[in-house]
Amino acid sequence: MPPGILRSVMSFDPENYRKDFPILGRVIHGDRPLVYLDNAASTQRPRQVLESIVDTYENHYANVHRGIHQLAQDADDRYEAAREKVRAFLGAAALEEIIFTSGTTGGINLVARCWGDANLREGDEILLTEMEHHSNLVPWQQLAARTGAVLRHIPLTDDGRLQLDALEELLGKKTKIVAFAAVSNVLGTIAPAKEIIRRAHEVGAVALVDGAQSVPHQKTDVAELDCDFLALSGHKMLGPTGIGVLYGKRELLAAMPPFLGGGSMIKEVHLDHFSPGELPGKFEAGTPPIVPAIALGAAIDYLAGVGLEAIQRHERQLTIRAHEVLGRVAGVRIWGPAPERKAGIVSFTMDRIHAHDVAQLLDRQGIAVRAGHHCAMPLHARFGVSATVRASFYFYNTLEEVEKLGEALEQLKDVFRPRKKVAK
Ligand code: PMP
Repeated sequence: MPPGILRSVMSFDPENYRKDFPILGRVIHGDRPLVYLDNAASTQRPRQVLESIVDTYENHYANVHRGIHQLAQDADDRYEAAREKVRAFLGAAALEEIIFTSGTTGGINLVARCWGDANLREGDEILLTEMEHHSNLVPWQQLAARTGAVLRHIPLTDDGRLQLDALEELLGKKTKIVAFAAVSNVLGTIAPAKEIIRRAHEVGAVALVDGAQSVPHQKTDVAELDCDFLALSGHKMLGPTGIGVLYGKRELLAAMPPFLGGGSMIKEVHLDHFSPGELPGKFEAGTPPIVPAIALGAAIDYLAGVGLEAIQRHERQLTIRAHEVLGRVAGVRIWGPAPERKAGIVSFTMDRIHAHDVAQLLDRQGIAVRAGHHCAMPLHARFGVSATVRASFYFYNTLEEVEKLGEALEQLKDVFRPRKKVAK
């Protein structure tokens, strides 16, 4: 490893950041310090993001895009400044390509409705993968039902990688869109996004990236990826709930009809018809999530300060340690690829103990994990399990917290150990 990289690996100290997150200081069930390992569901927020919310409401709040008074101008400036922060963060070419949405789900539904309804016909194919979140399955199933298009799926290997050799057979002239998660929210699998997008373009299909689990954890450059659409959620990257982003190439967005109808998305309205407004307002009908968007800008500032490369490296260390620690607990099975091929998401099952019981018992130790199907029922069906326990990391997690998870699982295993019958 070159010395520079070694130094930066060694010098990353989550404690430098934990002090910014008031909630990480919480104590659970009386005396257990919180170990928050549910970041794939939602991350926590630093003081800087919380202060942004308070500051906007206390000093700069008004509705946007309508008023001519000073506060309206303030709110407008901040809302549009947040759009610029998102644009730069994602490497997008133009502000018109950044649409504020309610989240990843909102973004994917927008594309399925507006691009999908306009471009898909009976017999056309939509290519997804077996590892998708329901947010990247159901909108396409609904689109298929509306249009008669056919759904196809890139299969997974037994260790949870995408079988790219299947693309040969799956991609063809009928494929109109390929939509996939850049990182699986269950297995942590990192998809070879650039290659999938290139292959999609070769057959004339467009490519949508579900960036919910990738954008918060690894550097994302939409120009380099050359994706046509990318959706993300603010609450998974230090921002508030209720805000997300859809990136779309300008020419695609410009050709799409609007999604929701209402204020702000129009040029002119008559009693019996309207003409749509310009991008990005065309896709932001009604009062948008003004304060959450501004706070997302603060979250991006914070993430840029930490550095996406450093975040990814630290999370890799946590994931490697998690595999070591969990691998030592008898009866634990980790699902998904080796740590080198995945993001900071470790899902596992334990022999004879249901995932919900594991999560509940970990909670008693102050350890927050998630149990269930994680909105990926087909993925769980693929592996023949109904539920897994998921530990998911962010840059503020420590190696000690990962050790605590291992120790707690050891104890838990003992609680469930079958007792020998004592002869009476
Ligand atoms: N896709 C993936 C991969 C996710 O992990 C999630 C959230 N769990 C979503 C989509 C949906 O995100 P949201 O609920 O914020 O819309």
